[in-house]
Amino acid sequence: AIDGETPRRDRLIEYLHRLQDAHGALFADHLAALAEAMKLARAEVFEVATFYHHFDVVGEGQTPPPALTVRVCDSLTCAMHGGVELAQALAGRLGTGVRVQRVPCVGRCDCAPVAVVGQNPVVKADVDTVAAVVASGERTEPPPVIVDFDAYRAAGGYRLFEAVREGARSGEEIITALEAASLRGLGGAGFPSARKWRSVMAQPAPRNMAVNIDEGEPGTFKDRHYLGSDPHRFIEGMLIAARVVGIAAIWIYIRDEYPALRHMLHAELDKVRAAWPDLPPIEVRRGAGAYVCGEESGMIESIEGKRGMPRLRPPYVAEVGVFGRPTLVHNPETLWWVRNIVEYSLEGKDWLDGRGRNGRKGLRSFSVSGRVALPGVVVTDAGITLRQLIDEHCGGMLPGHELYGYFPGGASGGILPASLADVPLDFDTLAPYGCFIGSAAIVVFSQYDKARLLAENAMHFFAHESCGQCTPCRVGTDKAARLMAAPKWDAGLLDELGQAMMDASICGLGQAAPNPMRSVLRFFPHEVGAPVTTEKEGAQ
Ligand code: SF4
Repeated sequence: AIDGETPRRDRLIEYLHRLQDAHGALFADHLAALAEAMKLARAEVFEVATFYHHFDVVGEGQTPPPALTVRVCDSLTCAMHGGVELAQALAGRLGTGVRVQRVPCVGRCDCAPVAVVGQNPVVKADVDTVAAVVASGERTEPPPVIVDFDAYRAAGGYRLFEAVREGARSGEEIITALEAASLRGLGGAGFPSARKWRSVMAQPAPRNMAVNIDEGEPGTFKDRHYLGSDPHRFIEGMLIAARVVGIAAIWIYIRDEYPALRHMLHAELDKVRAAWPDLPPIEVRRGAGAYVCGEESGMIESIEGKRGMPRLRPPYVAEVGVFGRPTLVHNPETLWWVRNIVEYSLEGKDWLDGRGRNGRKGLRSFSVSGRVALPGVVVTDAGITLRQLIDEHCGGMLPGHELYGYFPGGASGGILPASLADVPLDFDTLAPYGCFIGSAAIVVFSQYDKARLLAENAMHFFAHESCGQCTPCRVGTDKAARLMAAPKWDAGLLDELGQAMMDASICGLGQAAPNPMRSVLRFFPHEVGAPVTTEKEGAQ
């Protein structure tokens, strides 16, 4: 037994976390004992433990890591704000008892640069503030200030869920409201939510649900924002979806970088379960530092206790998902909007009520970071342009900075130049420029930045995060990163390599990895000494 329960294969990653939390690392003899307790081959336990970046596996004869790790983000926005230099300076300052690691995005791009001391994030960090936190012994993140269960209920929360639960509101009413509001998946793919609900409902029971809070796209921090302020609006949306679709069990997969949110979710879910004891089982699962688990089938593999390697499709997860059952996978922000949309609809009001501009309809949450005066999550009209977004919501550019370019959809969404700052930002509007909005992570850069260096940063990120399962991605990202380090880019070779990755990679990581590099070839050729004239470029 482990902690009094019969070991479950799908909880392997949870057990690994417990071991590492207790002992500071995963030691070979502990892993062997775990394998024995779980009746698994040692290789199976080792392959899972070594897949995830947050696990420190210590083989026989190897030296364990120091007791404290300081993780310094070196992804796009933090790199622009000196994250790489901060990591170097901290390595010199903090001494041998502390390990300083450069890590990918920790989901706090609005407060760049960020260093995480143990599990305690230090925002707008510099060497002195990080050293002070190290000396203070504070290793945990303070809890978020939220609308808790009682406050949410007192303000009318969960009434809609109870109406659905008691049959006073039908599933068809709910789905029709979502259709009228054109709610789409807000994790990046933008699939129409109502259609997703219907397709899972059409599958045989039992059906499962998985909520993907593995928000790892560099530049994205909106899920942390919503969960860290009003989590029950998300939980209510989740419970409504579960009721309407007929869900037997729910998994909430949350990235390891959000420990305070995870603890908060456990506590608030206990209150929800106490209020409605007949809910389907809800398990919160802790990620372990793998961006690829943000890909829905990679997340499902991880929920099942395996390496987070994306699956080949078909079958789609709506047909064969968690434990082989039809699965409704949602981003938390998508579920967060369900209550608002349906309540407005039931009152006969149009939720969108004229929202949207430049020919687009609806609202969007943008995670805005980079060289703007007021970075943060902005909820505004779908179809707003970057220029409008910066001027109306972000206090303009930082003093002395002029707009030079921007990532419209995080690291994977490509890069646009300042000359395209008047393009409406929405699903589908950026395709003519080889870009996409994804999870609406807008990273703004200025004349003090180089698009080529940011694209190189993004490619290193993808190389680091590739699960290694398919050659075009595993080899392609690494090869591209090395080619991009050359003073003059070999445009033809990079273009060919990018095409192969897009055509032949299994999942979105490998397919989207070339986007920033291709954007540089197209819009910033002066930076890489390798002008290319393509048909697409002529069509701009
Ligand atoms: Fe893994 Fe990359 Fe292939 Fe996706 S594209 S399955 S991340 S190797």
